[in-house]
Formats: sequence, C-alpha cells, structure tokens
Amino acid sequence: MKYPRFVTPDTEPFDPIALTRETEKIVCVGSKRKYTNFYATGVYGGIATAYSCGCCLRCTFCWVDWSRDFPEKFGAFYSPEEVFERLANVAHSYGTSKLRISGAEPTLGKEHLLSLLEHVENSPFKLFILETNGILFGVDEDYVAKVARFTKPHVRISLKAGTPEDFTRKTGAIEESFELPFIAIENLLKYDVSFHVAAMTDHRIMSSAERASLVKRLAGIDSRLVTNLEEEVVDPYPTTLKRLEYAGMKLKWPLR
Ligand code: SF4
Repeated sequence: MKYPRFVTPDTEPFDPIALTRETEKIVCVGSKRKYTNFYATGVYGGIATAYSCGCCLRCTFCWVDWSRDFPEKFGAFYSPEEVFERLANVAHSYGTSKLRISGAEPTLGKEHLLSLLEHVENSPFKLFILETNGILFGVDEDYVAKVARFTKPHVRISLKAGTPEDFTRKTGAIEESFELPFIAIENLLKYDVSFHVAAMTDHRIMSSAERASLVKRLAGIDSRLVTNLEEEVVDPYPTTLKRLEYAGMKLKWPLR
C-alpha cells in the first residue's frame, strides 16, 4: 500500500489493519517501540506521559505532532523497561502516581505494551491511562483479554464518527472499519476492563444527526456508555489546522 500521511479530498480509503502492520514496521523493533517524549502534564489531575509515535488512522482533527504522519523521521526506540523507568522518573519529579501513554496510537506493538503493563502492575503506581482509538482492541479480542489480566489500566477509547461514511471522511480508513471501536467496547465490557468512552462530537465537524447515530449505537451496547460519554472538541493546534486544511475542511475559531 502507498503509505498514507494525511487525508486529502483525493485520499484512497485504507485498511487500518494494513496501516497498523506498515506502521509497526517503522515504530517497532522486537519489543521496542518508538516514542518522541516523556513529560508530565496537568490532565487527569497530573500524570506522567509517554508520547508514542505512529497511528493506524489519519483523523483530520488530530492534534498529534507530525510524528503521526512521518513516523520514520521522529522518535527513538525504547524497551518496555526503559519506558517504565522514564515514566517513573517523570512521575517522581512531578509528584504523581499516575502514568499514561498518549501521542498517537499506544496499542501498536502488542508485545511492547503488554510488557510495559507488566512493569506497571509490579510497581507502586496506582493508575495507567491507556488512550486508544479502539481499532486493535476491536480486531483482536485476545489483546483485550490480556490487558484484562492487569489491575492498573483504565482505557479511554475515543470514537471518531457516528456513521461509516463519516468515519471514512474524517479518518481516511475504509467504512468497514467503522465498527471496530464498537466491537472493542464490547470486548472491554466482556473482559471487565476499566474504561470510558470519549467521542469527537464537536458540532463544527459532527452534525446533530451524526451524533444521534453515534449515541444510538452506543446505547445499543449499554445506556451507561451514553451517560458517561466524554465529548471532545477540536483544539486549534498547528498540526490540526494544517490537517483540516489538507482535507479541505474549514472550521470557525474560536468555538463559541
Ligand atoms: S486523533 Fe488519535 S486516532 Fe486519530 S489520527 Fe490522531 S492519534 Fe490517531
């Protein structure tokens, strides 16, 4: 496949599983995974963060830096032990007991992530936030079953669209993959993993009809998912503005 960088009006929809495998060839070597940074931030009440490199979607509203689009040009490889040590150092300096992986898609590199979770499990740290688009947790039930063995992770699964057509338009991925994050939610429920659902429902890029479709789909799984839904808005990061421009999407700023 031609490696997709960002969505344009001419983008040929891609299979996110094929893109996962292509991206893993770039960002994973053995059990090592590429990261671009380790730092602490005030979200979640203060959390040590590892910024992962590479994703299997190409969201037009994505805030992640250009390492998402050009993973071969950014980051360095770290073993699970090295990532844990760096996170622990950042957490101790900042005075937090919470850890997370953010950046692009943390579930790329299954062996790496499961090994990192093992280190976290055997540590005094209390919480590990795993932010994901749900593609790989939807296609690989065994992955969710293995994450469920750990007590520290809390998964934040972020939905991108409310219909298959909108999913392709906003992420570049084929319509057939729209269902995968919902299957991931069903898998997380099945294996009793701690999680909550977020969705990019910003009214500038999601119509009320599309939002209603998303809410209906979630309610069909479990109505509590709708009650606890975290609704996201697009932030005007420089990369976000460029990606929206490349996709031919114009948003009004500020939001209100
Ligand atoms: S918003 Fe998340 S899922 Fe979408 S391209 Fe960016 S990192 Fe990937």
